[in-house]
Order: sequence, then C-alpha cells, then structure tokens
Amino acid sequence: MAVSQFDRVADFLKLPADIRERCKWPKRIITVTVPIRRDDGTTEVFFGHRVQHHLTRGPVKGGLRYHPDVNVGEVAALAMWMNWKCALLDLPFGGGKGGISCNPSEMSDGELERMTRRFTMEMIPFIGPEIDVMAPDMGTNEQTMAWIMDTYSTHSGHLVPSIVTGKPISLQGSAGRTRATGHGVAFLSSIALSKLGIKEESATAIIQGFGNVGLYTAVTLASYGVKIIGISDASGALWSQDGIDIHALRAYVSDHKVISGFPAAESIDPNEMLTRKCDILAPCAVGGVIHASNAGRLDCKILAKGANGPTTPDADLIIEKRDDILMIPDILCNAGGVTVSYFEWVQNLQRFQWTEKEVISKLETKLHATFEQVMSYAAKHKLPKRMSAQAIAISTVANAKSTRGLFP
Ligand code: NAD
Repeated sequence: MAVSQFDRVADFLKLPADIRERCKWPKRIITVTVPIRRDDGTTEVFFGHRVQHHLTRGPVKGGLRYHPDVNVGEVAALAMWMNWKCALLDLPFGGGKGGISCNPSEMSDGELERMTRRFTMEMIPFIGPEIDVMAPDMGTNEQTMAWIMDTYSTHSGHLVPSIVTGKPISLQGSAGRTRATGHGVAFLSSIALSKLGIKEESATAIIQGFGNVGLYTAVTLASYGVKIIGISDASGALWSQDGIDIHALRAYVSDHKVISGFPAAESIDPNEMLTRKCDILAPCAVGGVIHASNAGRLDCKILAKGANGPTTPDADLIIEKRDDILMIPDILCNAGGVTVSYFEWVQNLQRFQWTEKEVISKLETKLHATFEQVMSYAAKHKLPKRMSAQAIAISTVANAKSTRGLFP
C-alpha cells in the first residue's frame, strides 16, 4: 500500500529516477531475536524489527508496536508513512517504526519489561537521540518508554531522556503528549466541520477503537459538544443515538478492560457500525478496515483517519470519487502524536518544561496551518487530499536529498 501510494505521487511530481529510488527505499532494516525468560521458567524467542526509512532531515522518529501481526513488511510501510508525516509537518525528523511480534495481553508486566529491555539492548548500536527516537504505538505505552529510557541511560552512564518520547511526566515526558494524537484528530475534525458549515453541537461521530487515539478523539470531540453515537474496540461495538457518555465508558473500561457489556448503550455489529450515518467517522484502531466492499457505503461527511492506513488503496480510489466526503489523510490527521513527540524531544534536549497549555496551543497552530496547506495544494493541483498531503511531504524529502547531494 505504501509503495503504491508513493509511486502514484512520484509520477505526479515527475520525480527524477535517481531521487525517486532514493526516496522509496528504507535506509536501514534491522531484525533481531529477543530471547526472554517467561514467568514459568521457559525461554521464548521473539522477533523484533526496526525500520529507519531516512535520516536525511534528522533522526528517525516513530512508534514501537507490540502485536501478534507485526512483521517486517508492515513495519517498513509504517516507517515510510512516518517519513511523509514528519516531512508534511516540517519536523526535523525522518520516519521510523518498530515492533515485536508478540501478544502483550497474554504477557505479565515482568515479561513485558524483560522483553522491552532486551530489545533495547539489541538496538543500542542503531538508536540514539540524534539517530532514532522511539515512541509508543499499539500495545506499548509510557511504561514501555520508561523501560527503554532506563535501559539506554544505564548503558550510557547518565540520564538520556531524549532517547524516547511519550515518557511519563515524572521522567521528563511532555505535558499533553498522552492525549496529543486523539486531540489532533478531534481538532482537525472540528476544523473540517466548520469548513462544511456544520455546528459542533449538532454533529455526530462514530469512532472505531478505544485505545489511546480513539479515547482522546472521543474525549476532545465530546468536549466540543459533538455527540459520540457509535464506538467500538476489539471486543465489540456500542451504539446510542442520544450519545454515549464517554467519561462513564472510560470508567467502565478501566474496570472491565473492554467496552463490551457497557450497560448504557446498545451492542451492534462492529463492521456495520462503520457504514452507519454520522458527520464524523474516525477509524482509530487498525489498518485496512475500510476496503473496496464497504467504502461505497460509508455514510459520513468527514472521514478522519486516526489510525495509520485504515483505508486500502482500492477504498481510497472509491472515496476520492465521492465529493460528499471530506477526507483528512492519516499522515495529517494523526500527526498530533509525533508533533508533541517533537516538542518533547526539544524540551528534553534543552532541559526545559512547557505547560500543557503551551504544548496544545503550539500543536493546534501547526496542525491548522498544515491542514490549510493540504487543502490549498489539493485545490491548486486538483488532487485528492491524501495525494496532496503526500505530494507536499515527498517533495520536501526529495528537495532535501537533492540539495544535500549524493555521497561520495
Ligand atoms: P491502542 O493499542 O492504544 O488501541 C487500539 C484500540 O483498537 C483498542 O481499543 C483495541 O481494542 C482496538 N481494536 C483493535 N482491533 C480492532 C478491531 N478489529 N476493531 C475495532 N477496534 C479494534 O493503539 P493506539 O495507540 O490507539 O493506535 C491506534 C492506531 O493509531 C494505530 O493504527 C496506530 O498506528 C495509530 N497511531 C497511534 C498514535 C499514538 O500516538 N498512539 C499516533 C499515530 C498513529
């Protein structure tokens, strides 16, 4: 998916063949074995990957994912998308991504800690605040980042907070980082609502996923007055035409781990939920959930892509032809996380701490400006929004590469 999207944009930009090849392939693909001692005394070997797409514009930046489906191809695609995302937001980073193929829900905290620390040790020759800075993604969280920072710092002999972002506040994490991605999804959705002349208080939203991104998308949208009528996670989907009380649902999930069984909403089919009528549809869970067979049936006005790659290339072609849907491309829509990660890295390097108000205000300024840039580039070149975002990003990287020249 990532490569076919890249080829399409490179054709549009008429990238010269040499630059095109240099932009397309990752700089480094690292795969390591991660042996750990399980709690029952047995030893298990996991496979971990890290892909560093480019270091042309700075260190690579990107999440670390723990999920059974993690494989090197998926990680490479996610690294490429991160690369375009950092370039689109004009952050001084290349894109990276990593993951370990494992099922974190079946592992104890001790096992997760041992796996994280061993993976970090295997990665030490390839990471650093000026080389590769990891962050949380699916299945990882601020505790994972704290273990990485502690392992790296112990190895360095001094505290190195800038080795990861998405850390706990007590370890020099940034105020606002935890909610940044979801807040950005909601903030951009509200800008899209105003473009369409829809008032927030009369708008409805359906959100897929109730993890970090889905939760904070829901919390911020609810704070704007948007009614959340549908929400799902891996356990099922909930529906209430009167609106789901997000704070009550959050409290329910902290007790029950999943949304299913929440008494104040109806349980519905999670796939069917995606095609129900709403103003904002925000897929904030996994990739490929909108495909050729459901894209034509979407009944939303705004498609806010909180997850990475929630639409397949076939679905994109269908959605691009529909002028009834304003689509916010994923590399813009979920860029709040990496933007605040950038703020966190800057604060750590400078030994500075900004307030949450400062962080969120800087975030909104950057997202708003980039949203307008994507819209006006799309209008000027008569391009779909996703291609417009990618074209801005890819030409930024291509320019940096050609200006730096080719070594030796
Ligand atoms: P998370 O692990 O915190 O939550 C994932 C959520 O998706 C959970 O609620 C899970 O139950 C749900 N889910 C899994 N499979 C599902 C399915 N088939 N149907 C419905 N729900 C399902 O992960 P996250 O950090 O919220 O990330 C979600 C997506 O956003 C991923 O694509 C990730 O790459 C992307 N993303 C995350 C961040 C970030 O800052 N966390 C930043 C940018 C992009």
